[in-house]
This record gives sequence, structure tokens and C-alpha cells, in this order.
Amino acid sequence: MNRGLAISVVLVGALIGAYFSVVVVGEWADEHRYIYISPLDYALDYLSDDIYKNIEIEVDWVSGEEPDWNAMNFLIDKIYEYCEKDRVYINHSASDIIFSYKNSYTLEDLVSMEKEHRNLYKHGDTAVIYFLYLNGRYADSSGYSEISTEVVGLTYSHSSVAIFKDQLRGMEKQGLSEERAEKSVLLHEFGHLICLVGIGYHADHEDPEHPHHTIHQDGVMYYAINASKGAPPPPLDFCEDSKKDIEFIKSRPRDESRVVYVPWLLLAADLVSALTLIWYIMRPEPYTPPQYPEYPYGYEAAYPYEESHEYAEQEDDYDDWYYY
Ligand SMILES: [Zn+2]
Repeated sequence: MNRGLAISVVLVGALIGAYFSVVVVGEWADEHRYIYISPLDYALDYLSDDIYKNIEIEVDWVSGEEPDWNAMNFLIDKIYEYCEKDRVYINHSASDIIFSYKNSYTLEDLVSMEKEHRNLYKHGDTAVIYFLYLNGRYADSSGYSEISTEVVGLTYSHSSVAIFKDQLRGMEKQGLSEERAEKSVLLHEFGHLICLVGIGYHADHEDPEHPHHTIHQDGVMYYAINASKGAPPPPLDFCEDSKKDIEFIKSRPRDESRVVYVPWLLLAADLVSALTLIWYIMRPEPYTPPQYPEYPYGYEAAYPYEESHEYAEQEDDYDDWYYY
């Protein structure tokens, strides 16, 4: 192809890419516009009112697995208690009821269900938390096979939480109130959203056996709920050490230098790929040695004497072979 034409095609492509990067992605939901390098900056979206004054909650559930709204309201009260927010509310019109034939879910399943059903992302001065209520179990597929687990709740992104209702029901069979367990799980997962325990900072009370959980059994950030008969009911508040951590995270200034504005990132990738393509089109043709016609009377006569280094070397052994 003609080089001028090829370069024009690349430039037009680069312009379309730049438009997509800056205009389209720039107008996209806030959720996708910035990447924070420190997880603590995500925690500040919830804890502080510096950027987001409100928290909106979207809840989707698999048919039959509707959340306990008392438990959800308990969580909202706790968010008011710990976070500097004007309004914390559930957007009921965003709820999807999902029909699912599965009874175990891998992390990939959760991510793809969220992609399909989640409607709300950060917008304006409102941060959004997404809850996905599921039947069945969580399947850990990090190894070669899926391992069914006892996971009741799982925070799988900086704004998304999965709750496994069947596991909560299983606790009720053992004599523990489902509502009580659900309150505890919701607050526990919210604790992970605000970086408890030790996510992005050091915490002395972090359990070395169970990372990001506290060693204090009386705190909601303990790694497990003991549902056996006679065990104390699951805690409904953070332990004193976790409360101190929350104060520490709130007092920490946002790390503005470590926020990546995604449109600029895409624009840089667009420019680098356009320049690489132009360099590729403009590069000199690779050197191919001149092809000499086959000469019927011996090789030496086919090479011009002074241009062939090989010939010059062979000249030393002149007597050995020249006259054969
Ligand atoms: Zn946890």
C-alpha cells in the first residue's frame, strides 16, 4: 500500500481513538473515570464528604433471595454513624430481580452478573454501593477446580458486595436469627469497603491467619460467624481497634498525585499506538543483498573483485583453489 495513504488511515484512526478516549470516556460514569492507586482513597469516597456527599445503594437479587430490609436499614444507620454523609439511601427503582439456574457462583460469575444488572455508578456528588444477593454458594475457582465454600458475604470490588442468602438461612437452622446474621454480614462487608482491616495500611490487630480481619472476636471484622449452639450472637459493631482505624483513614488526606484520570491514560495509549504504526510504515526497507545472475564459469568471476570481502579473504589462499 502507498505510504501516504497508510499514514492517512492511521491518523484518522488516531483521531477517532482520541475522540473516544477524551469525549466518550470523559462523559462516562465517574466510577470509570478515575483509578485510585491507594485503596484508602476508595474508602474516603464513603467515609468523607470531600467529594461525595451522599451514598446511594443499589440492590439486585436472584428471585427468592430478597434482602432483609431491616438488616439493610441497620446498615444505613451504621453508615450515618461512621461516615460524613448528608444522605444514605436505597434506590429501589434500580433493583433487578434475576432469574438464575445456577447454585454456585465463581468470582467471574459475580463480575459478569454485575455487568449485566448493575445500573448505578458514582455520579455527581453521590457514591454508589452495589449489593448482589444470591442463592447457593460461592465457588472459589482460583485453583484448577471449583471449591464450594462457606462464604456468607464477599466484597469483590471497591464498590460491590455479594451476599449468599442460602448460607444465612443455613445459620438460622442452627438457631441463629437470619436477620441478626445478615446485619452482621452487611456491616462486615461494608468494613471491607472502607479498607478494614489493614487494606492499604498497617493494623496491629490484623489476624495473620486471616488477612484483612481482626483478631478481636467481639468485633464485626472477625473472620467468621460462630453459628454453633450456645455461641454468642454475631457482633453488630466494629471493635475498638477498628474504630481507631476508621478515624485514622478519615484523617488521612487523599493522595491526589496517585489518581489516574482514565481518559488521559487512553489518549496516551492512542498516541503511542499511532506513532508506532507510523514508524512501522516509514521505516527503511530491510537490506536485501543484490542478486547476481548465475555465472556458468565459476563463482569468482560473478563477484566484482573489490566489493566482495569474502573474495578478498580467499585471495590469500589463491594458489590453493583459484586454478582448480
Ligand atoms: Zn471478611
